[in-house]
Amino acid sequence: MVDNITYLNDDEAKEMICEIGRRVYNKNFVAANDGNISIKVGLNEVWATPTGVSKGFMTPDMLVKVDLTGKVLEGTRKPSSELKMHLRVYLENEEITAVVHAHPQAATAYAMAGIPLDHAYSPEGVILLGKVPVSLYAAPGTQEVPDSIAPYCRDYNAVLLANHGALTWGRDIIEAYYRMESLEHYSLTLLHTKKLTDQLEELSAERLAELIQIRENMGIKTGGHLISREEALKLGANHEPHDSSSVQVDQKLIQSIVAQVTEEVLKKLW
Ligand SMILES: [Zn+2]
Repeated sequence: MVDNITYLNDDEAKEMICEIGRRVYNKNFVAANDGNISIKVGLNEVWATPTGVSKGFMTPDMLVKVDLTGKVLEGTRKPSSELKMHLRVYLENEEITAVVHAHPQAATAYAMAGIPLDHAYSPEGVILLGKVPVSLYAAPGTQEVPDSIAPYCRDYNAVLLANHGALTWGRDIIEAYYRMESLEHYSLTLLHTKKLTDQLEELSAERLAELIQIRENMGIKTGGHLISREEALKLGANHEPHDSSSVQVDQKLIQSIVAQVTEEVLKKLW
C-alpha cells in the first residue's frame, strides 16, 4: 500500500483530462479519434476518455468513470477498449495516478520498427525517460494488450507498443503527459541525428551513473537499464538492439525449423 497519494477530485480530474487531450491533439500526437487519457481519483475509481471522440474537442460531460475492473460508475458514453491497458498499469503499480496513450509519429516509428530506446545518448533521455522497451505485439481490444505491458509498469516510465504507439504513466497527469512529450521529442531528435551520422556515441558509464544519481535525487527510482558507451563497445559496433519483436521472429523461425526436422525424422521412420 502506497501512502501519501493525493488524488484530484472528480471535477479537477475531468478538467485535466480535457486539457491534456487538447495538448495531445494540438501537438499532433494523435490523428482523428486516436489515443486515450485516464486519471485515478481514488483506490478503485478512474476517470477516462470515452471511445470514438477526438481528444482535441472533449468536454467534461463526455468522460466516463470506471472501477479498476472497467465497470462504468458514471457517465453515459462507452469507455475505450484500450482502457484495459490503463487499468493494468494502475493494478501493477499503486504509485501511478495517470496514464496517457497516443500515437506520436517518431515514437510510433520506433514502435513499428521494434527498436527500443535503450542506449544512453542524452541527459534528458536518461533523466526524463530511462530505457523505453518495446512490448510484444498484441491484437487491439484483446486481453493480450494489458498482458503485453504488465512487465514494464513497475520499473519503467514508458513503453513502445509494438506496431501501434506509445504509453506513458506518472505519479500525476503532468508527469505522465510530460513523459509522452519527452518520448516524442527524444525519438524525433534521434531520428534526425541518425540522418546526419551513423556514428552516434553513447554517454560513458561514469556520465550515465552521474545522471542516474541526479534522477534519484529528483525522487525518480524508475527507468530501467540503459546501455553506456563501454557496454555498447563490448556488444560490438554492429550491435542492433535485440528487441521483443525480433525475439518473436526468432521463436517462429525455431518452431518452423523444429517442425521441418520432425517431419524429416518421421518420414525416415515410416
Ligand atoms: Zn492506440
